[in-house]
Amino acid sequence: LANKKFHPIPSVVKVGNTSIGSDNLTVIAGPCAIESEEQLLLIAHNVAKSGATFIRGGAYKPRTSPYSFQGLEEEGLKYMQRAKNETGLATICEVTCPDAIEAAVKYIDMIQIGARNMQNFHLLKEAGASGLPVLLKRGLSATIDEWLNAAEYIISEGNPNVVLCERGIRTFETATRNTLDISAVPVLKEKSHLPVIVDPSHAAGVRSYINPLAKAAVACNADGLMIEVHNDPAHALSDGPQSLNFEQFDELMLQLKPFAKLV
Ligand code: PEP
Ligand code: MN
Repeated sequence: LANKKFHPIPSVVKVGNTSIGSDNLTVIAGPCAIESEEQLLLIAHNVAKSGATFIRGGAYKPRTSPYSFQGLEEEGLKYMQRAKNETGLATICEVTCPDAIEAAVKYIDMIQIGARNMQNFHLLKEAGASGLPVLLKRGLSATIDEWLNAAEYIISEGNPNVVLCERGIRTFETATRNTLDISAVPVLKEKSHLPVIVDPSHAAGVRSYINPLAKAAVACNADGLMIEVHNDPAHALSDGPQSLNFEQFDELMLQLKPFAKLV
């Protein structure tokens, strides 16, 4: 169902009053984690001003350590709804369990399946049954075929609204958090009709690499970008070192303008 052979026309996935896979470059921006209502609203207003069309923010955080901040859960999703009402941005949050999906249906526009859950087949089926569009991130060490099979789990539940997100893979290299597999974009474009976006933030893990990697994604014809943006990266509760501040995000958007159709 994800295969281009049986669906030669590229899919456009509608999300709220926007879409992913059209002529425009979709830019999803926001904090790694929703830390408070004030923080989320401040970030939402700023990324909207710079030209993002989506606000992201984790409410259920799949942290490597159980002692790290785990997220505000359903309360965080309510702040997302408020951010949408104030700014008109579409909203996306990661879900990590069926309860989170149930809450997401009430408050947000799109759900994200994170790298660590790419092969959580029960969760994929629940995401498929939810009716919400799904952003499926690539697993930490997943091949492209394994990734497309994960998408198949969602689509086969009757939900064709799947977008793929390359976020870097595990390699021997330690200079970056992960290695951005930029070749995944043209490979997926040849194999599948699903829209493809790139998350340079989780791939690089280092703020100064985000700008060139984002441009590489645009050059490879990616349908969108996911960028972590924080009001105070030095004090972020998660992923501060890879988060852009408002000025850096605004500068990135300005630099992308000659190459991409932004809203
Ligand atoms: C995230 O987007 O906040 C996240 C946890 O990403 P990933 O699943 O790609 O690690
Ligand atoms: Mn993060």
